[in-house]
Amino acid sequence: MRTVPGRTDRIVVVGAGLAGLAAALRLRGAGREVTVVERGPGPGGRAGRVERAGYALDTGPSVFTAPELLADTFAAVGEKLDERLTLLPLETTYRAQFADGSHLDVHADPDRFARGVAELAGPAEADNLRRYLVDLAELYRLQLSTFIDRNLDSPWTCSVPSCSR
Ligand SMILES: Cc1cc2nc3c(=O)[nH]c(=O)nc-3n(C[C@H](O)[C@H](O)[C@H](O)COP(=O)(O)OP(=O)(O)OC[C@H]3O[C@@H](n4cnc5c(N)ncnc54)[C@H](O)[C@@H]3O)c2cc1C
Repeated sequence: MRTVPGRTDRIVVVGAGLAGLAAALRLRGAGREVTVVERGPGPGGRAGRVERAGYALDTGPSVFTAPELLADTFAAVGEKLDERLTLLPLETTYRAQFADGSHLDVHADPDRFARGVAELAGPAEADNLRRYLVDLAELYRLQLSTFIDRNLDSPWTCSVPSCSR
């Protein structure tokens, strides 16, 4: 990780998106005095909400991939995730609605998801989905430490540990 010289006991974080808020919590947990500035009307950034005509629409994330990373961030300031947030698993994560009136429900359970694909597109596509999900699980495992959970201080930072740049 790149470090900065000089005093770092008072820090300004620009932007109250998820990254800024997480950085602020970790810095606070490390004993720094932190001020977060945000140009928008409130915190959240792309994880926002628009309320119009009686509807509330999330503007960004719908899939919560790694709750353990959020738990870590709360732990940095001595807080427990489950005392701050109630997370409820969704069995049906979303519905893809097609122009011909058919639809596909995307299920968290792979077998239920594959059954839905088989009903809509046949058993060969369901087998393709199963293979795709296995590939994705492996991809997730491989990239977690080399990309998601890695500091990228610059666009030129290589995400592969063996990279010489
Ligand atoms: C449609 C959509 C769907 C997504 N779905 C998922 C998903 O399912 N799962 C998932 O994990 N991720 C998802 N993402 C990605 C996720 O929303 C973003 O990665 C994350 O919210 C980015 O957070 P951030 O803090 O890096 O940036 P931002 O959310 O962009 O926050 C930056 C903040 O900085 C503020 N700011 C910028 N410049 C200044 C300035 N000069 N002064 C003051 N404030 C400033 C901005 O107003 C903003 O509030 C989705 C994103 C979108 C748009």
